[in-house]
Amino acid sequence: MTTVDKTTVKSDSDWKQVLTPEQYHVTREKGTEAPFTGKFDKFFKDGTYSCVCCKTPLFRSEYKYNSGCGWPAFFKADDAEARIVRHPDDSIPGRPRVEVLCRSCGAHLGHVFQDGPQPTGERYCINSACLNFASADGRSARAAECASA
Ligand SMILES: [Zn+2]
Repeated sequence: MTTVDKTTVKSDSDWKQVLTPEQYHVTREKGTEAPFTGKFDKFFKDGTYSCVCCKTPLFRSEYKYNSGCGWPAFFKADDAEARIVRHPDDSIPGRPRVEVLCRSCGAHLGHVFQDGPQPTGERYCINSACLNFASADGRSARAAECASA
């Protein structure tokens, strides 16, 4: 079983200072946002999704699809072996699931299910509260600024 590296280590009180109450509850207390309420559920702009806690890039818009399940769904993660940890979750009796966490900071992200589209057949079911989004436009604009500086 792989474990979280926790290269980004903060105390609970530190996380509370940098996260909203909802972000804290979902990422640090393994909460789940209510279905169909997250800001990225029906959001399909071009860009990159990163961990809201430690900013590690996790997903790209190219991997996102509309699963209809009420949470953002991705059929793969960026460099998943290095950035995501899978953990057996038996918190619901009779319904074993696989929890996914950010490897670098241990943030709970959501779960991964084996009912996604090809080519992976996987569905990362992720809470919007765990993600930051950077649009492809914004990123290229910042890159241009750096180049001219
Ligand atoms: Zn993280």
